[in-house]
Amino acid sequence: MKGHFPIDKFNTLCTPFYYYDTAVLRDTLNCIRAEVARYENFIVHYAVKANANPKVLAIIRESGLGADCVSGGEIQAAVKAGFPANKIVFAGVGKADWEINLGLDYNIFCFNVESVPELEVINELAAERGKTANVAFRINPDVGAHTHANIMTGLAENKFGISMQDMERVIELAAGMRHVKFVGLHFHIGSQILDMGDFVALCNRINELQEKLDAQGIRIEYINVGGGLGIDYHHPNRQLIPDFAAYFKTYAAHLKLRAYQKLHFELGRAVVGQCGSLIARVLYVKQGTNKQFAILDAGMTDLIRPALYQAYHKIENISSEASVEMYDVVGPVCESSDVFGKSVDLNGVKRGDFLALRSAGAYGEIMASQYNCRTLPQGYLSDEFM
Ligand SMILES: *Cc1c(COP(=O)(O)O)cnc(C)c1O
Repeated sequence: MKGHFPIDKFNTLCTPFYYYDTAVLRDTLNCIRAEVARYENFIVHYAVKANANPKVLAIIRESGLGADCVSGGEIQAAVKAGFPANKIVFAGVGKADWEINLGLDYNIFCFNVESVPELEVINELAAERGKTANVAFRINPDVGAHTHANIMTGLAENKFGISMQDMERVIELAAGMRHVKFVGLHFHIGSQILDMGDFVALCNRINELQEKLDAQGIRIEYINVGGGLGIDYHHPNRQLIPDFAAYFKTYAAHLKLRAYQKLHFELGRAVVGQCGSLIARVLYVKQGTNKQFAILDAGMTDLIRPALYQAYHKIENISSEASVEMYDVVGPVCESSDVFGKSVDLNGVKRGDFLALRSAGAYGEIMASQYNCRTLPQGYLSDEFM
């Protein structure tokens, strides 16, 4: 075993596959639970879209978190994993009728509504069922975040949410509808955010909006600030567990919560990111003109983040102690962007070695595709190798 990987057990498995270290996942969940317990009104949901592997979901559900879903399929996955429906929230800019009906039939806690036409459809579909749906409005706070453009969601130019100028009009509209009940405001400014200042900016914006609503006597039960806390992709061993203490403290210090209000969080990446690695085998080491390539049996179809967001994943040769050399680490897919890393230092690589692509627990397995008619990777928990 090198690092924490049971390599001898890996020999019997088809590569590539995802390996989830359940000790890391449980430590992360325990840390969240301990930190959140410091604050009376804080409630944490897990953003299912980061990783919906049923075995991973089961562990997260055991820890008591709620579920934040962005599709009907995710609602089904959450229910199947045992999340209670009254702890499920449903966000998303384009909810189809069947997905809304699914949420209504399960009596989920809340729909995070992103437009007026959506509000009207929820009201109609709830009426057909003789129900009243809890709704929160996702407000676009026009707050930037220091992260990759493709995962920044809180600017006015992004497709998400309802503009601040429309907020009061939409709340008023909902008040006139018989089958929806306005309960809260929802925000989510982006993902992989490590600068607490970005969350402070969101808090300040929410404080402004709350003052406006207070002045009109509009009562808000729930504030939902979404997710977005990032992880340390460069030094996974140094910081296996994200700094939840600083994260929750930032909100406690800067958000002016009313005594009767509850504050919801929806964390995805920070919950599951560091527990997962993509394990691949080296197929070939190829000498190029000025460099050498380690060609893996895993490609962008298994882990698309480097190709999609120019994301960095630390790569380790877990089969070798040989002296370090430099490689471009690439996949087999017929796309020039199918590259996991350039000029990567690795212990000397040979055919058959296992490479671990670290910090791949979030937006890894769940984003896998079958492009090139490839097989979807399996996911295994470390518990399964004991
Ligand atoms: C993706 C998403 C999250 C989770 O984001 P992370 O960066 O993974 O924490 C939370 N809320 C909403 C609405 C989302 O779309």
